This record gives sequence, C-alpha cells and structure tokens, in this order.
Amino acid sequence: MTFPREGGCQCGAIRYAVARPPTVIFACHCTACQRRSGSAFVVSLIVPDRDFRLTRGRLKPQTRTADSGATLTHWFCADCGTAILGMERGTAPQLYQTVRVGTLDDSTGLRPAVHVWTRSAQDWVAIPQGSHAFPENPPRPLLNYGQAPAS
Ligand SMILES: [Zn+2]
Ligand SMILES: [Zn+2]
Repeated sequence: MTFPREGGCQCGAIRYAVARPPTVIFACHCTACQRRSGSAFVVSLIVPDRDFRLTRGRLKPQTRTADSGATLTHWFCADCGTAILGMERGTAPQLYQTVRVGTLDDSTGLRPAVHVWTRSAQDWVAIPQGSHAFPENPPRPLLNYGQAPAS
C-alpha cells in the first residue's frame, strides 16, 4: 500500500488527500450501506483524522438514526452526490475518518481485511478466506482489526 494518495468526488468539487496507509479497510454489507450506495456493499478505509485532509470544496452532512438509536452522520458532495466520508470514529484527540475507498484516484491494493454485517450480504458475494467476518457489528471496535502497522 503506497501512500499518500488523493481522491475526490465525481464532479471534482471535492478533493482530498490521505497521508498514510489506513489503520483498517473494511467492507460493510448492511442494508443501509446497500441502499445508500445502490450496490451490494461499501468498502471504506479508516485513518486517523490527522492523516485525512480536505484539499478542495466543502462536504455536506447527512444524518440518520441507526436501529441502535445512535445518530450516524455521513458526508457527501452537494453538487454530484458522491459519498466521501462515513461516520467519525473514536473520540478527540484520537479521532478517525472513514473514507470510501472507491473515491480514491487509485484504489489498487486496498483489500478489506474485515467484512461486517455479512448476515445481510448478497448470497452471491463470497467472503475471501482469511478475512475477519462478522454477521453484524464486530464484538470490538473495527480499529482493533487493523491490517497496517499503526503510524
Ligand atoms: Zn462532486
Ligand atoms: Zn453498513
């Protein structure tokens, strides 16, 4: 995994940079991610907030209430609708950003080590051998299943 890498939305109004390899990459097969993306699952990487930098534009928040009652905020480009960031994780000063891997200019080599909400995965999706796979949320925070050395 070579970093830094840059990314952005489809229309170019939003650009960002990720400075270092992510703490963890995961795929979420929950029905909310399926609906939001119009696809089978969403692949995201998690990096410390200090390693994520918005270099152009301003993201718009969208908030929903999860089944658990928690309020979850996602961030997208208001011009083209591309989803860029998922919910923030952790707490200050150790805050983490969840970045949609497909919005990077180059997403090669960014394979998810963790698959969550496999309970609602499409039945044609095969979870690769050796992955951490959980039927719902993992028992410990996602950050504990990291694949890259902490920076
Ligand atoms: Zn855009
Ligand atoms: Zn999800």
